[in-house]
Amino acid sequence: MDLPIAGLLLYVATSCVASGLLFLPAAALAESLPRRCAVWGTRLWFAALLLPHVLAAAALGYALRMHALDPVPWSARAPTFRHLSFWWITDSPDAAYRIEVIALAAVAAVLVGMLRPFFSVALSWRYARVLAGVSTEVPELRVWLTPLDRPWSACLGLLRQRVYITSGLAKLLDPEELSAVIAHEQAHARRRDNLRQLLAQAAFGPTVAMPTAHLCLRRLQASIERAADHEAAREETDGQALASALVKAARKLRDLSADPNEEPLRRRLANRYREEFVAERAQLLLDTGEGEGHSVGRRLALLLPAALLLALAGIGAPLAAPTVRSFFESLLEALSANR
Ligand SMILES: [Zn+2]
Repeated sequence: MDLPIAGLLLYVATSCVASGLLFLPAAALAESLPRRCAVWGTRLWFAALLLPHVLAAAALGYALRMHALDPVPWSARAPTFRHLSFWWITDSPDAAYRIEVIALAAVAAVLVGMLRPFFSVALSWRYARVLAGVSTEVPELRVWLTPLDRPWSACLGLLRQRVYITSGLAKLLDPEELSAVIAHEQAHARRRDNLRQLLAQAAFGPTVAMPTAHLCLRRLQASIERAADHEAAREETDGQALASALVKAARKLRDLSADPNEEPLRRRLANRYREEFVAERAQLLLDTGEGEGHSVGRRLALLLPAALLLALAGIGAPLAAPTVRSFFESLLEALSANR
């Protein structure tokens, strides 16, 4: 059991560290992107979530191969190598016990993180089935109309995607606004955003202990909305119709949630978050004509620390392989020696 435990801990540790290191450069790049490159923001955050796994898999492959070629740990070979080994892991008398407890916690965290997307897929599948049962297709608009008062629209499904709008939303908006909202949802369908979200959530699983991974996931979700807004606005030639639809729907939702006896606190808080996000999206949509994002100076101020961090990573890269190897060896040594 020693090899799988050490391998799991190496994978989780490397993916968490990589997620932390990649966050700042990714955030700087995303912030400095011009607004017309909204689609690149999504790709960037998606890469920031996937790349730690590529690095962790490479580290695990390397450590396993080195262990197979030469199982003698560096610490046992010569005292000069001792500074390379993680001696604080091997020196503790109850190291094996501690490592096993940490490994168990890591397994639990990874399982919870990995199962979450499947749970949300099952939930949205059930939701889509209920909606499909009560909704009627409007072929000329390529949407399904749901008889509900709450103004709401969504693109549901992974492979067979459908756009739903509620009758409450259709009544609230004028035709131009409604077609902008439908264009937004159809942009989600065209870009296969539901599948992308599922993959992103699965990638997020093993790095659940890293706060930067939560930020990455949230930024990805926001950038997916912005990219769909951007595509919809391009189809409509200006973003005004979509911006006013967003604001109208948010206002109506606020009015519906105004009665504290009717709505639970959680929903009111969710609406408040939505309102802030809606305001930001509407502002971006109205700016698309001339807005180019930040000034050159601000962009440089964002990119310089990121470039510095990447340069430091480049300098430190030769140390990565010995560190990975000695971390793995120290775990194995502690697991086998302290029993
Ligand atoms: Zn959307």
